[in-house]
Amino acid sequence: MSDQVSQIITKAYSEGRQFLLEPEANEVCKIYGLPVAKIKVATSPEMAVQCFEEMGTPVVLKIVSPDILHKSDAGGVIVGLNNANAVREGYQKIMENVRKYKPDANIIGILVQEMAPQSTEVIVGMTNDPTFGPTIMFGLGGIFVEVLKDVSFRIAPIKREDAYEMIKEIKSFKILTGARGREPADLDALADVLLGVSKLVTERNEIASLDLNPVFAYAKGAKVVDTRIILAKK
Ligand code: ADP
Ligand code: MG
Repeated sequence: MSDQVSQIITKAYSEGRQFLLEPEANEVCKIYGLPVAKIKVATSPEMAVQCFEEMGTPVVLKIVSPDILHKSDAGGVIVGLNNANAVREGYQKIMENVRKYKPDANIIGILVQEMAPQSTEVIVGMTNDPTFGPTIMFGLGGIFVEVLKDVSFRIAPIKREDAYEMIKEIKSFKILTGARGREPADLDALADVLLGVSKLVTERNEIASLDLNPVFAYAKGAKVVDTRIILAKK
């Protein structure tokens, strides 16, 4: 298990990168048992169609480029594609958008990712606090984190009870228990995500920061659809 993660991190450093590309970050998270969305990487519209057909579900297309950190800002994410034509056109559209946004961006390919059903979005992160070291963060996605800063923190490593506390102490916790006609979220699955992140960042001190944004919270289970891992300076 550990070898594969080391190889991914070593490769990033050897290419002069201080971060993992999304397919690499997805793989590292998967190795640590996190419930990541299934992905394939395509390098042509026809290959994207083939990936879509192999997946057998609606898909999301996303730009993979070391020069693009926030994919949506670059027009680099298209969700809800459910036929070959839409995938082919989506591929071309993303290429066009990205070339316009950043003409000199090095484009590795386009991620074909299983489309996750809509649900409450949560965020799990890790930042390296200069005093406390790796610190785990939890919050709800969108305005809850960005505007209201409604998040909880614990220093890693955390135990299962810490994970439940982190989830329960955010002010918007009621949204996860089924407020406003929503289905109550599977808190065990969210705690598992927090514990998986804690284990990952504790065992891999090359990781300077990590963002799972968003993670979809379901009545049963959770799905991580965006993974970002930044490495420490070598
Ligand atoms: P970025 O944060 O780099 O702009 P994301 O991968 O987070 O890109 O995608 C942007 C948004 O698209 C997400 O916040 C989420 O709402 C939606 N999204 C992304 N991937 C999926 C997916 N696999 N299934 C459903 N929705 C998704
Ligand atoms: Mg994101």
